[in-house]
This record gives sequence, structure tokens and C-alpha cells, in this order.
Amino acid sequence: MIRFISLDMDGTLVNSRFVDLVWMQGMPELYAEKHGLDFKAAKELVVGEYMKIGSDNLEWYNLQYWLDKFELKASPESLLERFEDHIEPYPEVTEALDRLSENYELVVTSNAAREFIEMELDGLADYFSETFSATSDFREVKKSPLVYGAVCRQLKAKPIEVMHIGDHYSYDYESPLDAGLDALFLDRKGMRSGSEVVGDLREAVELIDNFA
Ligand SMILES: [Mg+2]
Repeated sequence: MIRFISLDMDGTLVNSRFVDLVWMQGMPELYAEKHGLDFKAAKELVVGEYMKIGSDNLEWYNLQYWLDKFELKASPESLLERFEDHIEPYPEVTEALDRLSENYELVVTSNAAREFIEMELDGLADYFSETFSATSDFREVKKSPLVYGAVCRQLKAKPIEVMHIGDHYSYDYESPLDAGLDALFLDRKGMRSGSEVVGDLREAVELIDNFA
């Protein structure tokens, strides 16, 4: 019996526009200003440094780390706030969360840093009783089965009482299944098919309603 539904954030609840702007426009612009480069040169340099660290390291996700590394005085909050107006939930999200929240307790399990989660979920925060950041709360760069186990413990739930939904096949589908949770794979591009694959969150709600 499912009691909790855990949702991924980026690519599941909100699209990537905001995150892309923060990293690929905001940070290079600050760098260009500080070091007297044009935007294109600054972006190339900044992205080159991102790649040297890579997404397998916690620093990759940490705005303060990059601001310090590039000797920039801006705060993480000011950088995030600059692009706040570009946070875009997918069109079906509010309706889907309205329906899911009638029967389930909703939480977010994301690998984004806490500061991103707080800003990106701002307009949706009331739907969620808890948010979990793999990187900020569990010091894990990827959502491993261990992360989902830890989420269940925090929720005081058995794995079989939790269903996770997200758009990364390995970290949002295989990992939770490995940890004993139920899971749906959100495939917005329609590349996969199967009984646990949904094209958007409206389909997820229908599938869950039919299970129950
Ligand atoms: Mg995602």
C-alpha cells in the first residue's frame, strides 16, 4: 500500500531553463565582469572548469564553491534570484499534484543542492511535506539505492510504502526499485515503453489511480 509519493524535481516538476541560465549564463557573466573578458570567452573558460570537476564530484552542484573558485563576490542567493522568473513548472504539474495530494503524502527527492530546491519549488512548496537533496542532505552525487533507503528511514516508511517518479532511468527508476520502492519512469521524450513508463505526470496519476 503506497502512502508516500516521491518526485524528482528537474525534468520532472520544472524544466531545465532556470538551472541552465544560472550555470551557463549567470556564472559566466559574473566571471566576464570580474575578469574583464567578453561573455563568450568567459563562458568557455567557466564551462571548461565545470568539466574538470565533473558531475561525479559534490563541488559540481555547489554554487558557493564556484563563486569562491572564480573569486566572485556575488552570493548564491543573488545569482539564483536573478533568474527566478524563468522557473517553469511543466504545464500538467499543478493539476497532477492536486490529485496526488488527495491520497498521498508528497515529497521531493532531487540531486540538486538545497538552495536550488528551495527556489525552484517556491510556487509548489505547499504540496510537499519534505524535500530531500541527495547532495546537500546525504552527500551523494547520484541518487543511489542508499539515498532512497535513507529517504524511507526519514519518512519512517517501509520501501514498499513509497513510490518514486522521475525522468532519469537509472537514478529515478532503477535505483528506487533496487532499494525496494515502487517507481515510475517519466519519459517526456517518449523513447521507452512499458507498464511503468509514463509520458507526463497526468499519465502517472491515471496509472496510480488504476492501481489503487
Ligand atoms: Mg530529473
